[in-house]
Amino acid sequence: MTFRTAVVSTALCLAVLAGGCGHIPMPSPDRPRGGRLMDDLRVLSADDMEGRLAGSRGSIRARAYILNRFKQEGLRPLPGGWLQTFEFSTRRAPDDVVRGTNIIGWVEGRRHPDQFIVVSAHYDHVGLRDGQIYNGADDNASGVAALFEIARRLRGHAPDHSVIFVAFDAEEAGLKGAEAFVKKPPAPLDQIVFNLNLDMVSRLDKGEIYAVGTYQYPELRSPLEQVAQGAKVTLRFGRDTPQDAERNHWVELSDQEPFYRAGVPFLFFSVDDHADYHEPTDDAERIPVSLFEAAVDLIARSFHAVDTMDLATLKTQSHR
Ligand SMILES: [Zn+2]
Repeated sequence: MTFRTAVVSTALCLAVLAGGCGHIPMPSPDRPRGGRLMDDLRVLSADDMEGRLAGSRGSIRARAYILNRFKQEGLRPLPGGWLQTFEFSTRRAPDDVVRGTNIIGWVEGRRHPDQFIVVSAHYDHVGLRDGQIYNGADDNASGVAALFEIARRLRGHAPDHSVIFVAFDAEEAGLKGAEAFVKKPPAPLDQIVFNLNLDMVSRLDKGEIYAVGTYQYPELRSPLEQVAQGAKVTLRFGRDTPQDAERNHWVELSDQEPFYRAGVPFLFFSVDDHADYHEPTDDAERIPVSLFEAAVDLIARSFHAVDTMDLATLKTQSHR
């Protein structure tokens, strides 16, 4: 146990003894706008999550909520358990060792139970800075809420492939959770045939969302185009070609990168940067609710399209 974790645990226990924060927060019964997705997003981006910095008290609270929701949606633990812990330090504070925790559950596939799709979203954000809470509603409470929705749709409709759902920790510290996962995967890496990663999927201020990865895996393009027909939001491709320079090249910018580097085909959904990106104003109130819901529907149907593909072959084919 790291020093930081010990301090946080003690603080939590004291708070629990004082009757302060022993409960897992639940969505309020009166819903101003939106359904289940927005309920989950609001809980994860509420002030009491304190910005969900890896190793923080808010992170522990978020973890309790996510684990509970995974169980509610019928996910089961893999032999390694629900939680995968790892230690990391950052360039900013190289001597400060932080413990991160990924949350992992799975559903067994019907046709290819020994081939795994990893559906992922990071739950950490940047915490508190100068007394302000960075709630990270879009980044990335939105992606985690979408994980629950994809899992919910699999209840009673088993997928073709086995599906591992993972809420990654410490993405903001430099993809630390995803790196730890790929380094010590809960299923053999050669049986992990796909990564679908979600990071910032709610702020469709322009009504569009990007699917990144079709340059590397062109076979994904046509199934996605079919899914996008008739969708209430616009699906855009790109941000993955040699012409997309630096911050416009998104392949390396989120948790799909360690998978891609390990030769696992990926698809990454995200919106464009917006004025509230990594600002304390990234709040639930700023989300265009019906566009967010439509985007998650598009993502869930994209998952289904990918699940029906021959992913073992896709993985063995050469890619760019
Ligand atoms: Zn993010």
